[in-house]
Amino acid sequence: MAALWPLHLFMTLNIQKNILLAPYTTFKIGGPAKYFCEAKSIGEIREFCNWAKEQKIPVLVLGGGSNVLISDKGFDGLVIKIHNSNLKFEENKIIADAGVNLSKIVLESVNRNLSGLEWAIGIPGTIGGAVNGNAGAFGRATSEAVEEVKAFDILEHSVKNFKKEDCKFGYRKSIFKRNPDLIILSATFRFKKGSSGDIQKAIKDFTRQRIESNPSGFSAGCFFVNPGWEGLRNKEELIREFPELKQFADRPKISAGFLIESVGLKGKKIGGAMIAQEHANFIVNMGKAASKDVLALADLCRKKVKKKYGLELEVEKRLLGFD
Ligand SMILES: Cc1cc2nc3c(=O)[nH]c(=O)nc-3n(C[C@H](O)[C@H](O)[C@H](O)COP(=O)(O)OP(=O)(O)OC[C@H]3O[C@@H](n4cnc5c(N)ncnc54)[C@H](O)[C@@H]3O)c2cc1C
Repeated sequence: MAALWPLHLFMTLNIQKNILLAPYTTFKIGGPAKYFCEAKSIGEIREFCNWAKEQKIPVLVLGGGSNVLISDKGFDGLVIKIHNSNLKFEENKIIADAGVNLSKIVLESVNRNLSGLEWAIGIPGTIGGAVNGNAGAFGRATSEAVEEVKAFDILEHSVKNFKKEDCKFGYRKSIFKRNPDLIILSATFRFKKGSSGDIQKAIKDFTRQRIESNPSGFSAGCFFVNPGWEGLRNKEELIREFPELKQFADRPKISAGFLIESVGLKGKKIGGAMIAQEHANFIVNMGKAASKDVLALADLCRKKVKKKYGLELEVEKRLLGFD
């Protein structure tokens, strides 16, 4: 245990041992964290990271746990659940702590007739997770509204500001995703003034589309990113051979869900996991799925899509605690 730390300090820090991670994820899958804590401030994040450094154990940051698949073996280190929750409003900006739910920012902006994140209504998870993975839907992305991000650098033990261009955002990508030593503390979002009627209508439309396409049950959203046409030398050839892909010819990406459905995997079950009937890019935990069940289904999707179309499916979820 905390060899260099007297017991009373370990207890003041409120670090718990052997905490099951499944309840902290929307998949409801995942074994125990060797150590687990919830951080409500930058001060606490610093102290927890300090402690982990002295123990020489790795740190894993968790937001809403809605974009992760955690191994049944769990995580042999310290899991820090980010729970800071301050919000500040400045004219057309909202400055939100990383632990604030994305849906809260959407609602706060809508209430102020601020437009820019309506499309994100219904995406679970926190600001930290949304910025880390540049969450997006309906052709839109979190990065569009981000002005600045504040992060704690575990290695340098310092707080850094990242202007939007420093965040290196891409399709479901950011500098924070590439560098797990950066813990997002807060983000500043800039909105446009909009009309209440237009904003309310957009919220209604996006909510309806989400309800229609998102399966119920435990999942982590779309399992794979949609493969892009860019970099494919044989686009025309592929469309000629598979005319069903023509519908994506004018879009930058091909729907991964469509590809998985096309290889006949909708409804396929392995152990307690299933490829959703409503949307083939969702793998759902039917109640007692193990992480290996989900990975086996994902592997089947990858192999079948590769065999038929020659396309590579890339996993969007963060796979944590796997060797
Ligand atoms: C039903 C459903 C629908 C979904 N729909 C969408 C969708 O339309 N579009 C979409 O993009 N996603 C979607 N998702 C996936 C997920 O909700 C989003 O990606 C979300 O933004 C993840 O946020 P989170 O807080 O849950 O992140 P987590 O799952 O907790 O973490 C994801 C990654 O970010 C890291 N991370 C989290 N917080 C921080 C932080 N403060 N600092 C540094 N790193 C951090 C974690 O270490 C992990 O690697 C959906 C999920 C579900 C269950």
